[in-house]
Amino acid sequence: MSIVNKSFVSIDDLNKKEIETIFQRAKVFKKLNSQKKSFKSACFANTDQELNALLFFAEPSTRTRISFEIACNKLGIHPVLFLDIHSSSIAKGESLDETLSTLKCLQPSVVILRYKGSQFKFDDSVPVINAGFGSYEHPTQALIDAFTIEEAKGSVKCKKVLILGDVLHSRVSNSNLKLLKRLGAEVAFCSPTSLIPKDPLWSDVTCFSNLNYSLEWADVIMCLRIQEERHGMSIGLSLAEYRDNYHLGWDQLRRIKSDCIILHPGPCIIGVEMSREAFTDKRSLIKNQVTNGLFIRSAVLSLILDFKWLA
Ligand code: ASP
Repeated sequence: MSIVNKSFVSIDDLNKKEIETIFQRAKVFKKLNSQKKSFKSACFANTDQELNALLFFAEPSTRTRISFEIACNKLGIHPVLFLDIHSSSIAKGESLDETLSTLKCLQPSVVILRYKGSQFKFDDSVPVINAGFGSYEHPTQALIDAFTIEEAKGSVKCKKVLILGDVLHSRVSNSNLKLLKRLGAEVAFCSPTSLIPKDPLWSDVTCFSNLNYSLEWADVIMCLRIQEERHGMSIGLSLAEYRDNYHLGWDQLRRIKSDCIILHPGPCIIGVEMSREAFTDKRSLIKNQVTNGLFIRSAVLSLILDFKWLA
């Protein structure tokens, strides 16, 4: 397991040392950023070749794409954007898979891939970073979340992390479960019955049926968006019913621990997953997660592209 010059598809691809390295590098990038210093003062590309990154985004994205794009700029990697599938040969009938393997023939240094399917075969001819793959995984988001927990709590180890909402369709929660368990957290979830994950990965994870009890238990609450685009709301309950039973609002905020932290990978639909008060509560680190995205994704790129590290 190593991601140097290889594809990074799942949390399983990372070895323990690499998780530590990513966090250490992210900390350095964060410090350099606060000092308005260049990321290139900490590392440099180990090649004379100009580096470029193909950002192939076949699903909507805001935070992930822009943070990868800024990370590329900060590291001197030229970002090439493939965003509008409707103005590409896909509109002429070429499949998404075919388009992607065609673009790999142009030999970008790395592909940053947001994808819909579940069939695409990853190989290491060009390293591919999974930037959100269907309902499968979103490993850089999990790294951001664990890093944010570590910053707030000192460590992830032994922290009680509650994942709340549409766990069944969430790629974020799959990656988080794997990473948080590896880092020694205690993970549980609370979801409507129809959104309980069926993957064996989740079979031994505690499932709370009572929201209030789960909120009192948690050191970290990670809310998830209802992934309507994946199920068209055929989940046996309406958004209003979801809100009535799983929403983080005024009453729920009073129940959670005073030092509990609230996370959300975004986009957060205010009024569904949580109220405006919860989003802006002093325990909410949702904006910090967005900022940390830049540092974690810079660290991942520097590792995969085998940058020489100076700091
Ligand atoms: N941004 C995350 C993802 O791409 C979460 C979400 O969309 O709800 O999976």
